[in-house]
Amino acid sequence: MKERIFVTRRIPGKGLDLLKDRYDTVVWEEETPPRQEQIIDFSKDAVGIVTLLSDVIDRKMIESLPKLKVISQYAVGYDNIDISTANKRGIIVTNTPGILTETTADLTWALIMATSRRIVEADAYVRKGNWKVAWGPEMLAGTDVFGATLGIIGLGRIGCAVARRAKGFNMKVIYASRSESNETKEIENYVGASKVELETILKEADIVTIHLPLTSATRNLIDDKMLRIMKKGAILINTARGPIVNEKALADALTSGHLRAAGLDVFHVEPTSSSNPLLRLQNVVVLPHIGSASISTREKMGEMCAVNIIAALEGEVPPNIVNPEVMKIEK
Ligand code: NAP
Repeated sequence: MKERIFVTRRIPGKGLDLLKDRYDTVVWEEETPPRQEQIIDFSKDAVGIVTLLSDVIDRKMIESLPKLKVISQYAVGYDNIDISTANKRGIIVTNTPGILTETTADLTWALIMATSRRIVEADAYVRKGNWKVAWGPEMLAGTDVFGATLGIIGLGRIGCAVARRAKGFNMKVIYASRSESNETKEIENYVGASKVELETILKEADIVTIHLPLTSATRNLIDDKMLRIMKKGAILINTARGPIVNEKALADALTSGHLRAAGLDVFHVEPTSSSNPLLRLQNVVVLPHIGSASISTREKMGEMCAVNIIAALEGEVPPNIVNPEVMKIEK
């Protein structure tokens, strides 16, 4: 009898076929996500599950799935999964790094451009019939991206890809990072970027963009105090995870005019409520967590999830294991 895999949402590309060829693969076909008890119900005989970042894979869930051997996350971030419980149970957890880096960096740049040049506001201005005077010296004037200072918090894969694009805009790039790697060195040489303290980024950057994972150390990192340190008139971009930024403090900083604008792909709670004060502000561009949403990237992510599950169930080290300690190997 084939082993059972549960996939919590239909995913595009060949990934599902790869799984169906080998396993008894059950897919949640509805558009609304399965509730926690539904995931447990559908996965109780499963040896593997493919999860989305909106699925809460907590201790209760993991302890309710006795046969589970592998959790294959359809995302690079895996803050929705209780890794420590997975480790205790010897369950392998995998993710989809790298493949979505350039797509997410593109989207970050879309937000940098949209906020700096007030693109969404200008589009609404035309559509609402407010464009009554042909041209005005101050009409919808924004700020220059070319030549500005870009501050990158977290120079990992996506942070580096965002930095590379800044070269074409002749920007001064400063970044804050805990570690150094060949890639950060390459960015220093290629873009002329320099490593600084987080507070220096906040004080000096015209545009600050966040590319950290959500962890206990980064949750609420950009709070009221940090926002007050930011340069007056600066722009904040967050395509990482919502809880890294304090939304209430951000709304206050934007309302007072201390910050010029914000571009957000991620929120504390997703979907965000229509009563979120940030949605009432014209100087905020909001997106529904579409950083990696290009057709090709989403298909490749599906394949990567399948490859990770297959490797794990065949006793090999999955290419994208996030908890190598369960296989007693070093990453
Ligand atoms: P990554 O390569 O792991 O980069 C994360 C960087 O953050 C690393 O350089 C890491 O440095 C640094 N970092 C971690 N904790 C830190 C801390 N406490 N202080 C300072 N730096 C810290 O990950 P990535 O692929 O670039 O992805 C970054 C995040 O973007 C993901 O975790 C995910 O949440 C988010 N994301 C969002 C979307 C979207 O759709 N909006 C798409 C993809 C990813 P160390 O090496 O020192 O740990």
